[in-house]
Amino acid sequence: MNAKQKMRHILDVIADMFPDAHCELNHSNPFELTIAVLLSAQCTDETVNKVTASLFQKYKRPEHYLDVPLEELEQDIRRIGLFRSKASNIQKLCRIVIDKYDGEVPASHEGLTELPGVGRKTANVVMSNAFGVPAIAVDTHVDRVSKRLGVAKPDDTVLEVEKKLMKLVPREEWTLTHHRLIFFGRYHCKAQSPQCQICPLLELCKEGKQRMKPGNKTKNKGIKPKIASRG
Ligand code: SF4
Repeated sequence: MNAKQKMRHILDVIADMFPDAHCELNHSNPFELTIAVLLSAQCTDETVNKVTASLFQKYKRPEHYLDVPLEELEQDIRRIGLFRSKASNIQKLCRIVIDKYDGEVPASHEGLTELPGVGRKTANVVMSNAFGVPAIAVDTHVDRVSKRLGVAKPDDTVLEVEKKLMKLVPREEWTLTHHRLIFFGRYHCKAQSPQCQICPLLELCKEGKQRMKPGNKTKNKGIKPKIASRG
């Protein structure tokens, strides 16, 4: 099996496991998605959704974030890690969006990555989910799963992982693959307890085989995989 055939098999298997994989950050427009992804750095989507439930009620437009003192915005997102720097970045981002883009989040990768707090991953998520431009955002799950499955090398940078995935995955499947790899990593091939014993990809997974060797203390007990999407 060559690299493309292997990737095809992985894509088909994770599509069966997680047919409904999707962006789990609640949002109703590109601006809200940008704020939500910015907030999600080193924080779970679940916590972000709890915070944005009230945040997006109070702040609907970039101007609204600038109508309050920084301290007030900090308090409104204090449950989120790094809330001080995130609040500061949100206000700076809103200022640029108003001054340079007429109050709308730019619909280009270049424009997005110029915004404070918005890196390549965030820009990819916004471009693919809000503007329908295929992209593979590499977060901690995509990075870990790609390396465990041998699609990328252990010491590859996030950008190298992204490039390898872009080469192996058909462009029209980039966005869905991003979501499915996240679900696969979040609910099955977890960081601390990957479900190797019942993994349908075990046969082609070097890490899984290593973990399943007799006497390996990291060997996991079999737990039936959950194959539906979760909120
Ligand atoms: S065999 Fe284990 S490490 Fe490999 S993909 Fe499956 S769950 Fe992850």
